[in-house]
Amino acid sequence: MINEKMTQRGQSSSVIRELFEFGKQRKAIVGEDKVFDFSIGNPSVPCPKEITECMTRLLTEEDPVALHGYTSAAGDQGTRKAIADYINEKYDLGAEFSDVYMTAGAAASLTISLKSVTQAGEEVIVFTPYFPEYKVFIENAGAKTVEVPVTKSDFQVDFAALENAFSEKTAAVIINSPNNPTGAILTEDTLKKLGMFLSEKEKKYGKEIYLISDEPYRELVYGEIKLAFPAHYYDNTIICYSYSKSLSLPGERIGYILVSPKAASRKILFDTICGSGRSLGFVCAPSLLQKVVAENQGVVSDIAVYEENRRLIYDIITVCGFEAISPDGAFYLFVKSPSGDSNEFSERAKKYELLIVPSDSFGMDGYVRISYCVSKNQIKNSEEAFRKLAKSYGLI
Ligand code: PLP
Repeated sequence: MINEKMTQRGQSSSVIRELFEFGKQRKAIVGEDKVFDFSIGNPSVPCPKEITECMTRLLTEEDPVALHGYTSAAGDQGTRKAIADYINEKYDLGAEFSDVYMTAGAAASLTISLKSVTQAGEEVIVFTPYFPEYKVFIENAGAKTVEVPVTKSDFQVDFAALENAFSEKTAAVIINSPNNPTGAILTEDTLKKLGMFLSEKEKKYGKEIYLISDEPYRELVYGEIKLAFPAHYYDNTIICYSYSKSLSLPGERIGYILVSPKAASRKILFDTICGSGRSLGFVCAPSLLQKVVAENQGVVSDIAVYEENRRLIYDIITVCGFEAISPDGAFYLFVKSPSGDSNEFSERAKKYELLIVPSDSFGMDGYVRISYCVSKNQIKNSEEAFRKLAKSYGLI
């Protein structure tokens, strides 16, 4: 019999997709340049030329049988070593190739990691607002999602709320910094406190509790901010990385899981990750892309473009009188709904051809998310529409 839960999942369309489709219809009616689609987080900066050159060289010069063949399930050893070496150079972590498991992007990294550290009926804590697929991956592992709000003033961990939500059933906590959808970054102080908090809980419940750090935006950090590295503050950390955003390769599906070398069950945990990858049907990560990233550790897309976009959109939004948190990373701006209702705000914005995502899709009401990974022209040309939207609320 057909699995109804999966049918429902396949049939429920995401708000972001709906907005995107709506945008396409509007563009056909009013013109491509009259609709301002800020809904999707697809990188707008092309992948670095080193990546294109590397791919071209590999495709023309390498033996195609070897190039396109299967790698071992955990990935090509050379690639895994290149990643461990790079991480050690940057973060002094002491990782080895045997801690790295190559994946088809952060989504695969997350679903494999969650399957590895949860038992049916256990709970995983996520901080609201959060990337909606977490819930899907947690449920797929047979676990339950427990939502914990962040602090409203600065989008850090609310430790009182975390304490309330924690129980002997908690198996893991997911963090995402820089964050989708807020653009906020967890401070070193927050990560230190979180590390201490989780260590105390491990003692109290006499079991390992995992911190799953979802890091697809790790390189997208702006200004003077120095991103704190979560694995420095808690030993039982699993890093879920992806090159989708840092190298603008979301369609190529490449990333990795890194088990912290300090994890108490380092080796068994890694074997478990291999087992989860196997049972979920991930045979190996794309071979060509594994070779490409091995040769290009430290290469990043031109994030100055996003930094300029961030400044432009933040200025427009705040000059219009909207309240937004100034994002330190990723490519999202989180804007407060003047009416307090995120859907009302998103619906009203549509009247001005502005497509912005209501925050309840991320488990929190009262905001919208603006993805500013779009052309500079789109941002500049949208100013008039944002002004009209602000006027409709009496903000200007
Ligand atoms: N985690 C977060 C917070 C994201 O925003 C995304 C994609 O937008 C992902 C994970 C999935 O990324 P990937 O394309 O690497 O699967």
